[in-house]
Amino acid sequence: MIEIIRSGATLERARVALFDFDGTISLIRAGWVEVMVPMMVETLLELKTGESEAELRAIVEEFVARLTGKQTMYQMVALAEEVEKRGGTALEPLAYKKRYLELLWRRIEHRVEELRRGDAAPEKYLVPGARGLLEALRERGFRMYLASGTDHDYMAEEARLLDVKRYFDGGVHGALDDYKSFSKAILIQRIIHSAEAQGNELLGFGDGYVEIENVKQVGGVAVGVATAEPECRVVDEWKRKRLIGVGADYIIPNFVEHERLLELLFDDARATTA
Ligand SMILES: [Mg+2]
Repeated sequence: MIEIIRSGATLERARVALFDFDGTISLIRAGWVEVMVPMMVETLLELKTGESEAELRAIVEEFVARLTGKQTMYQMVALAEEVEKRGGTALEPLAYKKRYLELLWRRIEHRVEELRRGDAAPEKYLVPGARGLLEALRERGFRMYLASGTDHDYMAEEARLLDVKRYFDGGVHGALDDYKSFSKAILIQRIIHSAEAQGNELLGFGDGYVEIENVKQVGGVAVGVATAEPECRVVDEWKRKRLIGVGADYIIPNFVEHERLLELLFDDARATTA
C-alpha cells in the first residue's frame, strides 16, 4: 500500500537518493526505543521529584521521538538537561550514551552474531523489499547515500553484514565522536554544494522525522517509511502522523511495492502511455 500525500511529487531528473539506516533499511536495532526510554525514565525517577513514572515517560518519549534521526548523542544531551532541570547532577552525555549502548547491545548482540556467522540471511534483518528498491535505483543510475545517527563504525559494519553497503556509492555516513561535525542536514548541503544535485533533485527515504524534514527543507521529494518494526507489514500510525507532519510526500510500510512507487515517483505510467 502506497499512500500519496502530495500528488504530483515526481522526480524526473533526480539522480541522488539519501537513505536513513535504522528502521528504514535495517532492523538490527529494532526495539531500541524500548531500551532507551526505560533507561532514561529510571534515571529521572532516581531524582525523586515526586513526578510519576507515567509523567516522566511522557516527557522522555517526547524528546526521544523529536530527536530521532539525529545522532544518539542529542538524546543523551536532552536527558542530561532534564536531570539538571530537576536539581540533579547529570553525568556527561557520553556516559549516558555508553550505558544505553551497553543495554542495547544485550538486546541485539544475537542478531549481529547470527549475521556474522552466516546463520541468518541478511534479508531477515532488512526492511522487506529494501534490496529490490536499491537494485532498481542503481539501475536507474542513482548515486546513493546512507546516513545514520548511529555511530559510524557500528552502522558501517551492520550495512556490510546486511550486504547493502555496496549500493551506497555516495558512502555510508554515521555519527562521529565530534557529534556536531556531522548531520544529515550537513550531508545534504555538501551534496548540493558539490553540484551533484539540486535540492529538488534529491529523493529521501526515512522512518524518522529529522531526515524527512531535512529533505523537504531543500525542496526534495521525501518518502516516509512508516515501518511497524520488526514485521514491517503495516503502517505504524504514530510514525505516519509525524512523517506527514514534516512534509512526507508518500507513506509506505515497507518497500515491497517499490516498482509501483518508482512509477509514481518518475511518472513512468504517463511517459509510457503518452
Ligand atoms: Mg531511522
